[in-house]
Amino acid sequence: MRWAILSDVHGNLESFRAVIEDLREEKVERVAYLGDVVGYGADPNDCLTLLEGLTDWVVAGNHDYGSIGLTDIDAFNPSARSAILWTRDQLLPENRIYLRNLLLRRQIGEITFVHATPNQPEDWNYIFTFPEAEEAFQSLTGGLAFIGHSHRPLILAKEKDSEVRVIDHEEVILESGIRYIINVGSVGQPRDGRPEAAYGLYDETGKTYRLKRVDYDVATAQKKIIKAGLPSFLAQRLSRGI
Ligand code: ZN
Repeated sequence: MRWAILSDVHGNLESFRAVIEDLREEKVERVAYLGDVVGYGADPNDCLTLLEGLTDWVVAGNHDYGSIGLTDIDAFNPSARSAILWTRDQLLPENRIYLRNLLLRRQIGEITFVHATPNQPEDWNYIFTFPEAEEAFQSLTGGLAFIGHSHRPLILAKEKDSEVRVIDHEEVILESGIRYIINVGSVGQPRDGRPEAAYGLYDETGKTYRLKRVDYDVATAQKKIIKAGLPSFLAQRLSRGI
């Protein structure tokens, strides 16, 4: 099975369309989506429509729940908060219902799909430090988890009782006996210094994973953000991938 794993579209229709186009070329058989389809970008409803037509394998992100009042947005930074309040006003009733029904975690065999952390997805914590990574591995039920949330691609590996290590490549062969937590980056608001849309490709048969980057029409996405009256920083950051 050839999986594509996408996360953090954040209402960026231009990046989402470019990635969906790319999925066809990659001959992907199944798509998983790791949350935050809305928030920040100017097209929350259109992105939700695209997502619903793309896959049923979807989990909720903090911006999804935040936009329908299911998670507290007090901890959000000012531009994230104002974008969530704007998104709340835009969402169509059927899309609110769709977001409300999203689960926090999905599991297929060995693979866990979650937005934030496998251990406590509802707390929306990040995995930035080694102790945080160790904690995440402790609760991992299978050998592989795909996550999003930080918008920064990352591959973590842990072999039995040895310490967690970072695999410094965007491509890896998954070895048996080693467990992995893989952050697939962000389709709609990358923050690793690269402006292209990012997503993950996982070949279950060949046991390979690679990060894919796709160029998209950044300028149009930026113009829409400004026109919608959203914070201008949300447009600016897209050109630099920050
Ligand atoms: Zn996000």
